[in-house]
Amino acid sequence: MPSHEYRRKPPFCPNQYCISHAQPTTWRYKKKGFFERLAAPQRIQRYVCRCCSRNFSSQTFSPTYWLRRPELLRSVFFRSLACSGLRQITHEAGTSHSTIARHLARLGRQCLLFHERLRPELPQEPLVLDGFRSVEFGHYWPFDLNLLVGSNFHFVYGFNEAPLRRSGTMRPGQRRHRTRVEDKHGRPPPQATRQAVYELVGRIVPPGAQVEIRSDEHRAYPVALRALSDRTILHTTTSSKALRTASNPLFAVNLADLLLRHTGANHKRETIAFSKRRQNACYRAAIWMVWRNYIKSVSERKRDDPPAVRMGVIPRRLTVDDILREREFPWRRKLTGWLEQCYFARIATRPIAHCAEHALKYAV
Ligand SMILES: [Zn+2]
Repeated sequence: MPSHEYRRKPPFCPNQYCISHAQPTTWRYKKKGFFERLAAPQRIQRYVCRCCSRNFSSQTFSPTYWLRRPELLRSVFFRSLACSGLRQITHEAGTSHSTIARHLARLGRQCLLFHERLRPELPQEPLVLDGFRSVEFGHYWPFDLNLLVGSNFHFVYGFNEAPLRRSGTMRPGQRRHRTRVEDKHGRPPPQATRQAVYELVGRIVPPGAQVEIRSDEHRAYPVALRALSDRTILHTTTSSKALRTASNPLFAVNLADLLLRHTGANHKRETIAFSKRRQNACYRAAIWMVWRNYIKSVSERKRDDPPAVRMGVIPRRLTVDDILREREFPWRRKLTGWLEQCYFARIATRPIAHCAEHALKYAV
């Protein structure tokens, strides 16, 4: 069955305030005709909840709700992992780049929740932590995607982001421009990486747990990990100058970085397809994380199982249709903290005024 068709019985009332939303065992609903649309299947069954009178349809439970081109979602998923920029996907799909951006955002939200539903609550292996460097808006706006990857199974447990100040070698003119940019928009918070790592490890490692975390010698990591005093964390470091071979203790995250840069057009060096907003980079990273964990083999050469199968999280390799079979509802996951900020697009790209204002409105 194509991913954009949902033909099962409605599983629960989609109204989050209805009693049948959380406890659908005695739920009663009735059919209420059809509506017609241009995309196949053209007749969509409508329903009404007998408890709260909410109208809904079979499309309410599909990730393709409200889409005119439901078949696009699947191909955009693959194209985003095939190193395509938005305009390149647009040429193939015959639509506008803003439509592709919205599809990517929707896929990102679906993947964020899909992963949160399946992710093991307690990591059973040493974790490897690293910051993957990329840029948003332009080269004066670098940021880190902080990744936490399992060292044995290569399962990506989670990620978040931290804005950074542009550093490295700069010409005098570039340095002056950085000053102008910082005068206008302010510097990124100097503690951003420490706070992000604190949030990420705190989310993945539950209180009371014991875990080994490996990382490079970034100065913010020990401070962030010490602050998580209700977890027992054994922190070991390896120099980032050490050979990046399979015997390197950080191999799992080095490989993840490699794959992320290999598959994403927005992370290539010297590209014009860089992310215009950090928010969208996070949505693309969520798609990549689900593909890496549940669809892609650990080793391309061996064609073996994906990380989640090797860990026993799922019995078999998933397909994109499996990922897109059922819509994930954010209010059924009780999102908090960074995940909530990311899901609801509240990560600010400061030079874009309305984007910064939207994030400020919901700042906690
Ligand atoms: Zn209801």
